[in-house]
Amino acid sequence: MKNIDELKMLSYLSNIINSKSDILEIVSEIKNYFRKLKEFNIFFYDYSTKKLKDAVNNFSPVEDMFDETAAGSLYSNFLKLSNCDYILDGNAKIALSGTVSFKTVLVPLRLSGSLFGMLELTFEQKEDYETTFLKSLEILANQLVLLLQNILLKERIQINSDFYDALKNIAKIIETQYELNYIIPLIGEMIDKFVSNHLIYIFIKQNSEYKLFWPNDCRDKKVYELMNTIKNEYIISEDRRIGIFPLICGQNVMGCIAARSTIDKLTPQEIGYINQLTKQSSATIERANVYAEALKHATMDALTGLNNRRQFEIRLKQEFASATRQKHPLCAMMIDIDFFKKINDTYGHAAGDKVLKTVAGVIKEQLREYDIPSRYGGEEFCILLPQTKVEEANIVAQRLRKAVEKTVIETYDEKNSENKKISVTISLGLTQLNEKDSAENLYMRADKALYEAKERGRNRVIVG
Ligand code: GH3
Ligand code: MG
Ligand code: MG
Repeated sequence: MKNIDELKMLSYLSNIINSKSDILEIVSEIKNYFRKLKEFNIFFYDYSTKKLKDAVNNFSPVEDMFDETAAGSLYSNFLKLSNCDYILDGNAKIALSGTVSFKTVLVPLRLSGSLFGMLELTFEQKEDYETTFLKSLEILANQLVLLLQNILLKERIQINSDFYDALKNIAKIIETQYELNYIIPLIGEMIDKFVSNHLIYIFIKQNSEYKLFWPNDCRDKKVYELMNTIKNEYIISEDRRIGIFPLICGQNVMGCIAARSTIDKLTPQEIGYINQLTKQSSATIERANVYAEALKHATMDALTGLNNRRQFEIRLKQEFASATRQKHPLCAMMIDIDFFKKINDTYGHAAGDKVLKTVAGVIKEQLREYDIPSRYGGEEFCILLPQTKVEEANIVAQRLRKAVEKTVIETYDEKNSENKKISVTISLGLTQLNEKDSAENLYMRADKALYEAKERGRNRVIVG
């Protein structure tokens, strides 16, 4: 009779394991099946990092999921399982027969003879079981091993595809952008997203010293020590927690990417990934430098078609001189797109670029012929309005603000692979040149007014 019950159990649970691919669903079905089962855990041993991982909790190392004693006993039980059949309430057992009594049982997960992990079942209380019940659990364990293998394989394929996405995105940054100040944080973010268990730092050599470029802070002395020994190849620290990967342009090391693991040692596979991402980054940075060199004498910003920053400085000096000489009014308007970072983060940088282009287009459309719009940097624009008093300029500013607000921008949402209609608002700071002003003052006051527009809630014009 007992055997028939176990056969039923086996066929029921086998069905569940074979019909579902989500480990959490399977665990919850198994828990429902054995009503007196208090805990059901699946542990998987990762030989590359030497960590026992909790398959039900995203494959997190058990030391992150349990307290020190519990995690320690999981490791020691796992070791014992290589020489026994089961562990009942902490005791290793071999070749059981008849009836056994236990509250907690550990069953090995084996694949082609090697130990792969273990199942842990804890019931509400100690009870008697036929050893055939243990045999059935063993059969279930074998089925779960195959499922686990599939999940891990799928995960590996996913990592690979994320890796190629990161590579592709780093290569793509350069299509319209060439300022290192913009490119390097992007590269940092892309690599950071891909290697979530590591801290990523990007250093650029300036006057033969490495300067941290991204993010804002690196307090790890070991990173600095190791970095100063770098040549043309990557190096890994002795404890294998830090890797320094050189950014090479031409024959020269122009900087490096440092990866510091927060939990494990860097695995050879991770080192391979970061090394390739660094090489792609080198190529992107090198190309950006070539662009920047070619555009050294350009006056136009490549993305928006407005004056670039350098041209803005020249025009500001000219307009300032002419306004003072001829005693004509001159206004300056600083514009910044509101919450622009969110656009990049939500829809990707291509959508961000499209927004920049569109806003620049609206600015051009709304201005008069003799107004001078420039892209000051990032998502900031500066407009000079010669022969214009602040009252008139305010009307222009309000018109511009409303026009941007009304504009629907059709973009492609890279994250969800669909077209998206979005809109943005801008904040504006406006000021008129007064008699005591220098050209610099004019710009600074407009910028201060912009800051105030942001402070007061954005999507508004402040006259300073
Ligand atoms: P706020 O309303 O306070 O201005 O918020 P914000 O998010 O617009 O401000 P913040 O200055 O923090 O973000 C500006 C972002 O603009 C950061 C940077 O990633 C992005 N950015 C700068 N230049 C470019 C560019 O050329 N293309 C794209 N897609 N993003 C850019
Ligand atoms: Mg800004
Ligand atoms: Mg902004």
